[in-house]
Amino acid sequence: MTDTGKVAPFGGFSIAFAPDAPTPAAGGPTSIADRPERTDAKVVIVGSGPAGLTAAIYAARANLEPIVIAGSAPGGQLMLTSDVENYPGFPDGIQGPELMAAFRAQAERFGTQFADVDLDRVDFSSRPFRLWARGTEYRAQAVIVATGASAMWLGLDSETRLRGRGVSACATCDGFFFKDREIAVVGGGDTAFEEATYLTRFASKVHLLHRRDEFRASRIMVERARENPRIEIHTNTGIDEVLGDAKVDGLALRDTATGETRTMPIQGLFIAIGHRPNTEAFRDWLEVDAKGYLVVQDQTNSKVEGVFIAGDVHDHRYRQAITAAGDGCRAAIDAERWLEAEGITEANTLTAW
Ligand code: NDP
Repeated sequence: MTDTGKVAPFGGFSIAFAPDAPTPAAGGPTSIADRPERTDAKVVIVGSGPAGLTAAIYAARANLEPIVIAGSAPGGQLMLTSDVENYPGFPDGIQGPELMAAFRAQAERFGTQFADVDLDRVDFSSRPFRLWARGTEYRAQAVIVATGASAMWLGLDSETRLRGRGVSACATCDGFFFKDREIAVVGGGDTAFEEATYLTRFASKVHLLHRRDEFRASRIMVERARENPRIEIHTNTGIDEVLGDAKVDGLALRDTATGETRTMPIQGLFIAIGHRPNTEAFRDWLEVDAKGYLVVQDQTNSKVEGVFIAGDVHDHRYRQAITAAGDGCRAAIDAERWLEAEGITEANTLTAW
């Protein structure tokens, strides 16, 4: 679930910059499901990143026949990630879309049904819980909310106007279109450094722009970028405006320490400034914290009995694929035990883990 608005379901690449260009290969399941065969389920899982799909694998193996409302751009943030080097089990790394395709295939193998549509609203006032997505009503005895978080934007008018015309929040999707171009990445966290390094595969030069002189990114990522001759790091650098009419041709910059302004000619701008949790459909029913993340009451329980929470939609501390996956597993086990305690399922499925 991203708000780039241009990530094809399980294709992982947009054609916003060069419609005639060949689409780079990406992993992904072959099926895209608008509507599953069933709309009633013991467990409905909302979200299809590592948390949602791990929950689906566990719930399906416990014979709970889950339905996943996967979103119109399924796969979560890893669909926007290139090399995943820290997911255990892949000593040589794996591409994010390929990893998510494997998660989904594993969930499908055990009977999970998918709806690749966005959730519109829910009613958690009584059971079965009701969820609506693209005109279809789903009913669930238990729900696992694993909707993740989406990329944030700077909020400049010029950024919005030039989105898809040189402005992107997805290096994996769009880096391909900036071969031999000079581009910029904004942000000072791991995402910005990861994307800057990735983009040097294509771009002739990558400027990394950060508003402060200290980075949130881990030391190893910063060092890797510093050693890369194609990356130039600019600290204390804010963006006043993205320049260009039909496409990006530069940036109006401001030194955040001195106030001095200058322009930088570039052809692409990648925004890598963090994420916002996807909680819109749940705000009337579940508690959110000051940063807008869902609040977990105890283990994976929400304040509504039978509704469980997993992954980045509540976790702003770890935010890793592996922690989200672990969380999805916990939520599925909690949901299964709760269904059993409620007498909705028989007490023989726990052996399936
Ligand atoms: P972070 O929240 O860590 O960093 C966001 C960065 O964007 C900060 O440097 C912040 O600046 C800057 N920023 C925020 N808003 C604005 C704005 N309006 N204008 C300009 N700059 C802005 O987000 P990330 O997406 O980088 O990382 C999220 C989490 O994911 C982290 O825990 C990270 O470690 C993890 N991650 C791990 C990876 C890996 O291990 N391979 C890869 C990618 C992410 P400031 O510092 O001034 O607040």
